Amino acid sequence: MPQIKVMVERCKGCERCNDACPQEIVKMSPQMNAKGYQYAYVVDGSRCIGCRMCAISCPDSAIEVFVEGTQYEFFAY
Ligand code: SF4
Ligand code: SF4
Repeated sequence: MPQIKVMVERCKGCERCNDACPQEIVKMSPQMNAKGYQYAYVVDGSRCIGCRMCAISCPDSAIEVFVEGTQYEFFAY
């Protein structure tokens, strides 16, 4: 199963990942990070298809996607 890691302190709450996820499983937390932004998190990781759209869409490289042990992040493209 793909795994999503959100680096909470990098997130600025822009919601691009939320809009990009075809499974609609990336949401914004009601909690805030140290910068005062609501950060992204995955609500149901079991539905993730590993498409990496969330990581690609993030302007701050705050999301990493791991598929079968391989790490994908924005700079990998
Ligand atoms: S990898 Fe794709 S399906 Fe999984 S959380 Fe990111 S955008 Fe959604
Ligand atoms: S796209 Fe990146 S910065 Fe924007 S809400 Fe998602 S994780 Fe945070």
